[in-house]
This record gives sequence, structure tokens and C-alpha cells, in this order.
Amino acid sequence: MEFIDLRTQYVAMKSRLDGCIAQVLEHGAYIMGPEVGILEAQLAEYSGAQNVVTCANGTDALVLTLRSLGIGSGDAVITTPFTFFATGEAIALVGARPVFADIDLATFNIDPERLPQAVTSANALGLTPRAVMTVDLFGLPANYDAIEVLCEQLGLKLIEDAAQAFGGRIRERRAGSFGDAATTSFFPAKPLGCYGDGGAIFTQDANTAAHLRSLRVHGKGTDKYDNVRIGTNSRLDTIQAAILLEKLKIFPQELEARQLVAQRYSNDLPAELTVPTVPEGYQSSWAQYSVLARDEAHREGITTFLKDRGVPTMIYYAKPLHLQQAFSSLGYSAGDFLNSEDVSRRIFSLPMSPYLTRDDQDLVIECIHQAER
Ligand SMILES: *Cc1c(COP(=O)(O)O)cnc(C)c1O
Repeated sequence: MEFIDLRTQYVAMKSRLDGCIAQVLEHGAYIMGPEVGILEAQLAEYSGAQNVVTCANGTDALVLTLRSLGIGSGDAVITTPFTFFATGEAIALVGARPVFADIDLATFNIDPERLPQAVTSANALGLTPRAVMTVDLFGLPANYDAIEVLCEQLGLKLIEDAAQAFGGRIRERRAGSFGDAATTSFFPAKPLGCYGDGGAIFTQDANTAAHLRSLRVHGKGTDKYDNVRIGTNSRLDTIQAAILLEKLKIFPQELEARQLVAQRYSNDLPAELTVPTVPEGYQSSWAQYSVLARDEAHREGITTFLKDRGVPTMIYYAKPLHLQQAFSSLGYSAGDFLNSEDVSRRIFSLPMSPYLTRDDQDLVIECIHQAER
């Protein structure tokens, strides 16, 4: 059993994928070919964002977004310490400083109640608090009902890191449509993945979108040899756009299939594990299905038992960002974000894919029950 099965999807779609790749090779517009614009329009339609700008990967999507909002040196961006490293890294890459706010224990997402305290911390450091960067962890949107109001009150921009959450939603609003801008990643293992790196930025604001379109092609003005600002090279390959267009067609069914796997796990796993909380009206895209063990030893016992029976698990994330060596200069220490630290010792993720067979689901569930006996 694979932890994330990409192969079954490939086999099912092979002839369509071969066809769309061949088409790009035929027309020859390898960079910014027609598929890129078509994909952006379809992503906008799906997400409910007015504008979508694709780029080279999900990390660049965050960096470009921060740059388009003019965030840099002397600024603070409030974010969660319980995320993939790229979230905090992007903030540091533009010269701003990440200021962490702890997570909610039930959803693993940033706790809105901690935002005012984080603003106070940023001010105390002599920094200008500019934005909150939320993460929709494992596919579950953060608590935007509360966060949007708070950002408004605190005068902060809101950036949604939806790298794991394409397809997630709160009621009728989809991931990508929250905040001043949102980002996603098309890394192969994300819910909507291509066959290489890719990313996108979503924004309701046409000026931000225009700025982003310039930044991703060396700060171009009216044409690419007219450079009006320092940009970078961060485009989505036409071939990857063509692949994503095909995958987007089956994405709604895949999301439904992930939903069924998650429901099955949540119904049938033993009570010794804490299964994911999905608040009323929310839907996760189930990038990961992650559970909490009682403690580190309990987790170790179960994951080793599963491994011996051919059931892979992963730990996202064993080390919160504030304890990463790369961020040692920020001056945080163990004990600063107790919920993140607690979760990092107890969490693990089970195999998840729209193509996880009923037999494999049975095996995962049965093995965990055995491990508990
Ligand atoms: C994957 C991921 C990113 C980065 O995306 P890449 O395409 O790998 O650069 C950023 N933030 C989060 C939360 C992610 O999971």
C-alpha cells in the first residue's frame, strides 16, 4: 500500500494525459502557452476568486504574494508554527519576520484568539505587523469567520496558504477565496497535483493580480523586454497546465472519494485515537488524514505495528517551525507554543488517496484495532 497513491490515477487517465502532453509538444508554446490562461480561468471559476495567477510552485506563490502586498524588511507576518516549513520560509525570504501564534487543538489551525497577542509581540519587537498568513492544514480551511473580522479590526492583510486545501470549503466559499490573496501548490502529492512543481495565487483584487503577473516574468511592463520592477522567473510550465486541466475535470469526483475514505476512517477507527474535527459547515480536501495518539509512546507503538504489516504512515509535523534550527535566530524556545508542541508529539497521518481501495481501508483500520489489543 502506498501512503499517497499517484499511480492509479495516472493509469486511469493515461491516454488523456498522453494526448494533452502531445498537444503541447505539437503546438510548441512551452512557456506561457494557451493552456496556462485556460487553467487560470478554470481555477478562478472553481474557487470563486476573481483572478488567478499561476506560478512555478507553492513557495513562490507565497513569496510573490507577500511582495505584491509590499511586505518586507521591518514587517511582521503572523502565522502558525504548525505547518510545512515553506510557510514561514516565504515570510523570511522577503525580509519580514514570522511571528507565531499557536494553534487550536481541535483543528490544528491557527487559533484566532491568539492573534491580538501576536500583534502585541510584533509591536514589542519594533516591527510593523502587516499580515496574517493562515494555513488550511491538511485541507481544512482555517477559522475565517473569526479571522476575517479580526484582520479587519487589527488592520492586517490576510493571506491564505491553501497549498494543502484546494477543494476545501466553508459553506459555499472555497479555499482560495479567503483573504486579500490565497495561494496553492500543485506539487504532485497535493490534492490537485501536477507532474512536477507548480503553484497559483488567487485574489479578488485586479491590481494585485496585475502586479503578480508582472512579478512572475521579471517585472515586465507592457511587454517582457520592458522591465518596470525587479521581478523573478516563476511561471507554470505549459505542459503542467495541460496536465492540471485534465486532472481538474475529475477533481470533484476525487474529492468525493477522499471524503468517503475520511468518513470511513472516522467511523471505524478505535476510540483510543482522536480523529479529525471538521467544524459544522466546513469541508476538508483531505490532503492528509491525521489522528492524535495519547502520547508519543502510543504513537510509536501504532506506527511501528502498522509499518511491520505494510501500512505506511507519516508524521506531519514532528518539529514545529519555532523549534527549527533555521529559525533559531527568532529566539523562540520549547514551551512557547504548547498546543503545537503537544500535537507534534502525538500526530500521525494514515494512507489517503481517492483511489484507496476498500480492502486497503479495511487493512488500515483492522491493523490499528489489532495494535490496540
Ligand atoms: C506544500 C506546501 C507549500 C509549498 O508548496 P511547494 O509547491 O512545495 O513549494 C507551502 N505551504 C504549505 C502549507 C504546504 O503544504
